[in-house]
Amino acid sequence: MMQEPDRYIYRAPFVVPVSGPVIADGALITEQGKVMAVGRYADLKEAEAELVDYEGHVLAPALVNGHAHLELSHLAALGGEPHSRPGDMPDWIGRLLAARAAATDPEEAADAARYALARLYAGGCGAVIDIGNLPESRALGEGFKTRVSFHLELLGFAQKSQEAAISRLETLPPDLCCTGHAPYSTGVHLLQALKERARRAPCLFPLHVAESADEIELLRSGNGRFRDFLAARGAWDDSFTPPGVGAVVYLDRLGLLDEQTLCVHAVHVTEEEIALLAERGAKVCLCPGSNRYMGVGRAPVPAMLAHGLQPCLGTDSLASNSNLSLWQEMALLREDHPAIAPAEVLAMATQNGARILGIEAERGVIAPGVSSSLLAVECTAQTDDEALEYLTSGGAAIRLEWIE
Ligand SMILES: [Zn+2]
Repeated sequence: MMQEPDRYIYRAPFVVPVSGPVIADGALITEQGKVMAVGRYADLKEAEAELVDYEGHVLAPALVNGHAHLELSHLAALGGEPHSRPGDMPDWIGRLLAARAAATDPEEAADAARYALARLYAGGCGAVIDIGNLPESRALGEGFKTRVSFHLELLGFAQKSQEAAISRLETLPPDLCCTGHAPYSTGVHLLQALKERARRAPCLFPLHVAESADEIELLRSGNGRFRDFLAARGAWDDSFTPPGVGAVVYLDRLGLLDEQTLCVHAVHVTEEEIALLAERGAKVCLCPGSNRYMGVGRAPVPAMLAHGLQPCLGTDSLASNSNLSLWQEMALLREDHPAIAPAEVLAMATQNGARILGIEAERGVIAPGVSSSLLAVECTAQTDDEALEYLTSGGAAIRLEWIE
C-alpha cells in the first residue's frame, strides 16, 4: 500500500455533521479512514495534520439511498417520461413487466445496473438498500465503493404461487436476505415465511406498503384495478378474503411490523396507522420522486414526524424516476412539504437511512469514529441556514467531490 500522511485536517466554511448543528468555519481531522474529531477550525488547527482547505464548499456525510432497484436500470426509458396514466399503478406494472420480458440481454441489464451504481456514487451516495428479483443481482455491488445492501424480492399471490415461492426459499443461501414485494402481490403465507426468515437471519425487511389508492381498495374491498390486473394474469386467488383495513393495519395483524420492517412509500396511510408504525418501531422510506412520477399522491410526512418517525429517503428505480439522485429527492420532498425544516430533510437522506441500515457508527453523520469517506459539496452559502437550504434544494445543480 502507498504510504500516505497519517492525519489530515479538512477545513471548510461550513461542516454539516447532521447529528448536531452546522459548524461555521469548521474542520474535521481524519486518520486511517476514520474521523477523529470534528469542530471549529479554531479549536482543531493546532493538531499535527496535513491541511486540506475546502474553501467554497460544505463538508457533509455521504448520502444513504433507502430504496432502489438497480436491476431495473436498463428500463430507464419507462421512467424517462411521466407515467401516461397518473395514479394507475397496475397499468405501469403491466408495462414494466412487458418491457422486462422484451429485454432479453442479461449482460446489458447488468451493465446498466453497474452504470447506475457508478452514478449513485458520483452523486455522493455511500450506501443503498437494493431490491432485486434475480439472486445474481446480489453481486452487482462488488468492487463499488457504495455499500449495496441487497434483498431478493419474492412474489406470489395465488396459493400455488405462494407455495412455490416458499419452497424456493428453502433452496436459497441462508445468508441471502429475502423480502416480499407488496400486500397486493405477495400473499399472507409467503409474507409470513419471508418475515420469519428475515428475523432468523437477521435481515432488514423492506416492503412496498400503501403506495397507491388501488392497493388500499384491494385490501378494503377485495376489488378494484389490482384485482382486475391479477385476474387478467391468472394470478388472482379466489380464497383471498379482503381484510377490510388499510395496509399498515393489515401487516400488523399478520405480525409483520417490527423495528426491522421498512415500509417503503407509505403514501396512503391514516393517522392511526402512522401511530401504529411508531408504536411498533417500524421504519419508513419515502420516495417522493417515484410517487410524483406515478401520480399516486404524497406521503403524510408532517404527521409522520409529529409521531416521531424518522423516515429515510429512496429514489426507487429508473423505471419510475428520471434520476437516482437523493439531492433531487430532497428538493422534491421540500417542494411537497415546505414547512419541514431543511435539517430534518437532510437527516432523511443521511442519518436516518444509516440508522435503519444499522451503520450509524460508520455512516450518515460526521462524528468521531465514522468513516472518513465524506462529501465536499460546492456551495457559496454565507450562513448555516443558507448551507442547509442549498443542500436540500439544490437538486441537479449540486456539484461535489468525495474526500476519502
Ligand atoms: Zn420499489
